[in-house]
Amino acid sequence: MKTLDKLSLNNEKVLIRVDFNVPINEEGKVTDDTRIRAAKPTIDYILSKGGCCILISHLGRPDGKDAKFSLKQIQQTVSDIIEVPVLFAEDCIGTKTQTLANNLQNGQVLLLENLRFYDEETAGDEKFAKQLSKLGSVYVNDAFGTAHRAHASTAIIASFFKNKKAFGKLLEQEVLAIDQVMKTGEKPVLAILGGAKVSSKITIIENILDKIDHLIIGGGMAYTFIKAAGGNIGDSLCEDEYFQYTKDLLKQAADKNVKIHLPIDVVCTDDFANDANSQITPIGSIPEHWMGLDSGPESIVKFAAVVHESKTILWNGPVGVFEFENFSRGTISLGEAIAQSTTKGAFSLVGGGDSVAAVKQFGFEDRVSYVSTGGGAMLESLEGKDLPGIAALMD
Ligand code: AMP
Repeated sequence: MKTLDKLSLNNEKVLIRVDFNVPINEEGKVTDDTRIRAAKPTIDYILSKGGCCILISHLGRPDGKDAKFSLKQIQQTVSDIIEVPVLFAEDCIGTKTQTLANNLQNGQVLLLENLRFYDEETAGDEKFAKQLSKLGSVYVNDAFGTAHRAHASTAIIASFFKNKKAFGKLLEQEVLAIDQVMKTGEKPVLAILGGAKVSSKITIIENILDKIDHLIIGGGMAYTFIKAAGGNIGDSLCEDEYFQYTKDLLKQAADKNVKIHLPIDVVCTDDFANDANSQITPIGSIPEHWMGLDSGPESIVKFAAVVHESKTILWNGPVGVFEFENFSRGTISLGEAIAQSTTKGAFSLVGGGDSVAAVKQFGFEDRVSYVSTGGGAMLESLEGKDLPGIAALMD
């Protein structure tokens, strides 16, 4: 992996693809600056080595130029976070921007306007990528959130930099975290998959089954397994067309010596609402018209025991409808067990979609080893796919 420390950065104009696709409210204020803070170590490092930074990013999905999606709105926030004044270019390409880039001095930072004001960005247009490339002498990709896209600024541009390109520190951390689960992690390795549907996790399961020792299946996706085995699940989430798949998976796992852990009890309800009637039942004895929305107390204890004996833990997907307070206990308890196991020395990676939201909401963010910043990119990595943004840095 070509990391930043392998490049000379003194007097270099470093074009950094960052992921500043942050939420902005009606007043144009950034409401969650996580992604900007995540890029700070790379920017700090380049400035400290005597270079200057030209930051390129997309924001949202604009249809042509649109002030609502202008990165000008985040200029001050970026400046506040990196503690350096940030200059702004009203366009990401063109003569004026080229002049601003040419005049940039070591130690300075220039933020360019939204790349997606040009359709050429998402089209992966080579001419557009070449124009962008002329702004810098070194290219760094630090945008894990878009690394699964073959866009002009995330993948195509890299070919114009030959040896003068590198992983940013965030991208490096993300790749190392995934490798620690998939390749180098200490055994026993545990994957916890939750969330709504079996169908959306099949490719992940197929890719990780050879690499893990334990698999906890929780949340909505567990009910397909339970019903396929003859249990009564009432109106719980279920994908009947995957019955055979669940049976095949259980057999495959047994052949590979992977232990599968399903919930044994459930908190079920007569309506999909926080304050609906609820009761605890064995997982395969949910009354007609009731639905399971959270792991029951015995399942919580069972899952926590597996977490405590694991040395490497991947968590993707909540094990209940954590958005409803009354059905969040299973997800919170699981987060607590993972945090405790991490304190005892396990490596824990939380990645992809709603488990990241849950970890942040319940305050486990600083108690696990790593929380991924990229939803889709993390899922595709877990599925074993090569990410174009990463592959482009390797050649
Ligand atoms: P996913 O995007 O597949 O990770 O699914 C996340 C969603 O699954 C969250 O919004 C959870 O509320 C939902 N979920 C988790 N457990 C259940 C369940 N037992 N029934 C319905 N939805 C669930």
